[in-house]
Amino acid sequence: MTALSPILQQATPVIVDHASGSWIVGTDGRRYLDFTTGIGVTSTGHCHPRVVAAAREQVGSIIHAQYTTLLHRPLLELTEKLGEVLPDGLDSVFYANSGSEAVEASIRLARMATGRPNIIAFHGGFHGRTVAAASLTSAGTKFRSGFSPLMGGVHLAPFPYAYRYGWDVETAVDFALRELDYLLQTVSSVADTAAFIIEPVLGDGGYLPTPPRFLEGLRERADRHGIVFILDEVQAGVGRTGKFWGHQHSAATPDVLITAKGLASGFPISAIAASTELMSKAWPGSQGGTYGGNAVAAAAAVATLDVVRDEGLVENARIRGVELASGLARLGQEFGQVGDVRGLGLMQALEFTTDAGEPDADAARAVQQAAIDQDLLLLTCGGYGNVVRVVPALTVTADEIDEGVRRIGAAMKVGL
Ligand code: PLP
Repeated sequence: MTALSPILQQATPVIVDHASGSWIVGTDGRRYLDFTTGIGVTSTGHCHPRVVAAAREQVGSIIHAQYTTLLHRPLLELTEKLGEVLPDGLDSVFYANSGSEAVEASIRLARMATGRPNIIAFHGGFHGRTVAAASLTSAGTKFRSGFSPLMGGVHLAPFPYAYRYGWDVETAVDFALRELDYLLQTVSSVADTAAFIIEPVLGDGGYLPTPPRFLEGLRERADRHGIVFILDEVQAGVGRTGKFWGHQHSAATPDVLITAKGLASGFPISAIAASTELMSKAWPGSQGGTYGGNAVAAAAAVATLDVVRDEGLVENARIRGVELASGLARLGQEFGQVGDVRGLGLMQALEFTTDAGEPDADAARAVQQAAIDQDLLLLTCGGYGNVVRVVPALTVTADEIDEGVRRIGAAMKVGL
């Protein structure tokens, strides 16, 4: 008999029957509050009626027309809609299916545009699992060791992880910028460096907001040295942090912006945005794929952007995020094992530590497991695996946040 691969057998014991909004109903008949959203994907909640209707309608008109051969209406509509929310100057968009593919496309673009080989990424970053994306990823050894050699030309620089260094944020930013300058003068010279790539909030790396001054420091160095500044908004984009884009908590704007996950509420599509001038440095054939910019996924993305706007979901993420953060902060004070509580909008996290202040992955796993008994779905993350992240739908209500915090507290009582 054929079985799921061992990796898939490690998923939670919950088997989904159907889902709606913030709730998943298992084949066991239990109703779970979903604070995982398919790792930050089902932005408008599960099966939002407008997204479902748009996808259904699209399936009946055209499903696939390979986009470097034939264009279709949903892709043109999506490009127009993205134009309403993209930062000024990023007026050219390309599409792929996943975050990793978009990351790879941005790396190819930066190398073609600059003629330089090296990419600088940051400790704790997660950019995907394809070989090039994994090379930029350092949010834990499991994402890169054992199957190397990975792509060459990558240098990893310190991220200002203030809590773990035991510093204040400003000191951590000064340190990380100094280390970056040292790297640019010694190991990866300016003449060899094509791009910086960073997330506005480290996702798998532990839900660590990138300090605004660090993003601004990268922007300034990118301008000074002709380096392409790539912002990976795959997880933080489309309203999740309480601004449409995660980097909008700072004054920095990117040369290339990558988005995926929440863009289409669960349909696989990603977008790479840049200026026309930069995008025109990619020659025909260098970017693309059979399924990129699929018509059904593009129609779902158009509906998602409409719902985000019409239902005020960016503002909802901001307000519910404040409520969630204060609920988690209360739990942090109640339980000694919580070293740090942090996040932006609806990307919030609890970092667990031992009495000696060391990362405690067992505690995070125990809370995640105990939450299942409370009919609550949670995820862990962090380079050390010691962080529980809370990622509700952007449609989450105040009552659902209250209920979720209550269940997290109950899970911590049992699990810790
Ligand atoms: N970049 C970031 C910030 C992510 O969080 C992820 C996925 O979690 C990726 C890239 C890779 O996306 P995908 O899994 O769709 O390839």
